[in-house]
Amino acid sequence: MAWFKREKKPIENPTPVDERRVRTEGLWIKCSSCRAIIWKKDIEANWEVCPKCDHHFRLGARRRLDMLLDEETWTERDADLASSDPLQFTDTKRYATRLHEAQKKLGMKDAILTTEGQLNGRAVICCSMEFGFIGGSMGAVVGEKVARAIERSLAQKQALVIVSCSGGARMMEGAVSLVQLAKVSAALARLDEARVPYISVLTDPTTGGVTASFAMLGDLNIAEPGALIGFAGPRVIEQTIRQKLPEGFQTAEFLLEHGFLDAVVSRKDLKSYISRALDFFLQSP
Ligand SMILES: [Zn+2]
Repeated sequence: MAWFKREKKPIENPTPVDERRVRTEGLWIKCSSCRAIIWKKDIEANWEVCPKCDHHFRLGARRRLDMLLDEETWTERDADLASSDPLQFTDTKRYATRLHEAQKKLGMKDAILTTEGQLNGRAVICCSMEFGFIGGSMGAVVGEKVARAIERSLAQKQALVIVSCSGGARMMEGAVSLVQLAKVSAALARLDEARVPYISVLTDPTTGGVTASFAMLGDLNIAEPGALIGFAGPRVIEQTIRQKLPEGFQTAEFLLEHGFLDAVVSRKDLKSYISRALDFFLQSP
């Protein structure tokens, strides 16, 4: 015999479940840091920063440029460069398919936007990485676009700002992606010789080959609060050195304390901070 038997008919739903879900879906977000339930529009209006606890969520490449650069002053460069899939690579999916899907979803050809524009009235060459595009990974296109941005910065004697957000080199392009580290670093050395300022902004996450090349080569290396910054992941390091890693290892704050960064700057202060730094660089002899 059953323990419980429903004799009456269940209460009728006034609206089908699917319909109700659609109406409320995505309107509210639970902050992963303070657990507060926040209206999504409030977070969006606050440049993806939690208004309750100041947790910095990831900001897309295009919105990042909207935030940093003066309205209607910037134009994109090299927007049509796209990967040729040099190795015809396939893992769980074909690399060509991954590229196509990311391009369609984000409306960009690869994981970085490079622009010329103005930041509080100062002419800058500004690059912004997109994590949503295959983990913001650096293949031939990202490397080439960064190298061209550096060359433009050099030719026009305009300061360079690169906002990194990346999982590192793009494995689907093998050695071709690794060559980009050397190429970009060599271009930055020329920029340094010409004494054109370069400000690197590290956001969550900046890891692998991007950390090992342009992200750490700024005249000023600044990061957003709480950003994960490192080369290899913590588990790999623990297994290699056979030691427990300290609390907060690989966060922006930890790196600042240990001399790997110059500053940790809140997103709301980032634009004014960069423009003040540019003034300082351009005034110094
Ligand atoms: Zn929060």
